[in-house]
Amino acid sequence: MAGKSRTLVMKFGGTSVGSADAMAKAAQIVKDARADWPRLVVVTSAVSGVTNLLLDSAAQAAKGNLQTLLEAEKSLFASHEKIINAHVSDVKRRAELKEKIKVFINDFGNLGRAIGVLGEASPRALDAIASLGERMSVYVLTGVIESFGISAQAIESTRLIVTNSHFQNAHPDFDATRECARAKLNPILDKGVIPVTTGFIGATPDGIITTLGRGGSDYSAAILGALLPANEVWIWTDVDGVMTSDPRIVPNARALPEISYSEVSELAYYGAKVLHPKTIRPVVEAGIGLRICNTFNPAHPGTRLIANSKSNGEPVNGQVIKAVTAIRKQKLVTIEGRGMLGVPGVAARAFGAVAATGTSVPFITQASSEQSICFAVPSESANDVITSLEKVFSHELEDDDIDRVWATEDVTIVTVVGAGMRHTPGVAGRIFSQLGDRKVNVLAIAQGSSEVSISLVVDASAADTAVKAVHDLIVN
Ligand code: ADP
Ligand code: ASP
Ligand code: MG
Repeated sequence: MAGKSRTLVMKFGGTSVGSADAMAKAAQIVKDARADWPRLVVVTSAVSGVTNLLLDSAAQAAKGNLQTLLEAEKSLFASHEKIINAHVSDVKRRAELKEKIKVFINDFGNLGRAIGVLGEASPRALDAIASLGERMSVYVLTGVIESFGISAQAIESTRLIVTNSHFQNAHPDFDATRECARAKLNPILDKGVIPVTTGFIGATPDGIITTLGRGGSDYSAAILGALLPANEVWIWTDVDGVMTSDPRIVPNARALPEISYSEVSELAYYGAKVLHPKTIRPVVEAGIGLRICNTFNPAHPGTRLIANSKSNGEPVNGQVIKAVTAIRKQKLVTIEGRGMLGVPGVAARAFGAVAATGTSVPFITQASSEQSICFAVPSESANDVITSLEKVFSHELEDDDIDRVWATEDVTIVTVVGAGMRHTPGVAGRIFSQLGDRKVNVLAIAQGSSEVSISLVVDASAADTAVKAVHDLIVN
């Protein structure tokens, strides 16, 4: 039994609030946790599929297709109405909630039509549109929790999370957010009411809506958990925790009872969607417990994040490789030429040119001869990156010191994670012979200096085979 002042932040993902049944499960989880946690904050995602629908409709509107907008309006109302009808029996409350949803959908229509007139959607307009998913779900979830006999109060996180104006990937101002979040949430918590707030969104100091990046509701929960501060943050999703691989690709993937912060950081950064990569830092810094659990299987203990997997990364149960993940739709960009040999500053200029396009680089290797630098970028940024590199190295290209700058077809970065790899010789050898046996050609390799992960690049068509092959090393 937790002590009187202990605080828990629970976040429900899109599938966990994705239907009337799912919301009932979420509300039951809140009710059960209530018994142990007198101070409980709930963070919600949009109903699953809604953020995509909102953003796709905005993209269509920008192309002049307003029909999609009308269809989206209908479908958004229907999906939220269905949940309200299923759980909110009080006639007045039901009508209020539906009215609220209509107002948001009306905003959506107006924003969409404005985008249609302009013929383009600015990042700021896209954030205003994307935020509507969470702004709708928060009122519906609050209504459902109340219908389970629990006092709850919806609060939009535009009033809690203060960010800069980097729309679509906004950065929180932690000091301002601490002050706002405590000032707004503590009085609600002190009354014994559960604040239910929107994940994913914040606002600039002037009140303009921003979002924290796709999948950012996990991050919202971590920010609030760290700043209140809470004792624990629990992320409720649609799988039994962090698994040995994405179960959609590897059906025999299994949940890990525990994983260290450094391991999960690598997994999240390299594509495991189960946790937004920015979630980890605030909770580690605040020394808060983090747990990932399944809304559809709440009796399962899920995954606990631990400071380190056994001290010094010694493998748990002799398991050296813990998990394998993949980031798709990347291209490898190579800068090559004999004239680069020993010339200082080539790498700095190259990455300066990449940074100028606003692209981040998840993977870098350099051949020891220094005749080539090779790195991965998201496929959609590859053309811009190459143009920028050609500009920066125009003289070297003219003088043939650099022969060419080029990009591959789509590739996938496969990342193998396990803190125990550091102490175990021969792991890389096992991985490569396994891939060789399955006829997977490895195009490039990189290992972080922490040795918690090894990343290898394979052709997009070999990605699933590669992930499954490495996974067989975990389960066999
Ligand atoms: P939510 O809406 O709850 O935030 P997400 O779809 O963002 O859920 O993340 C959960 C999904 O992440 C799972 O359904 C699973 O397909 C995917 N996933 C990818 N890699 C992993 C992994 N290593 N462990 C667990 N789930 C993973
Ligand atoms: N609804 C947002 C998204 O789909 C945030 C989230 O679900 O975490 O990206
Ligand atoms: Mg998610």
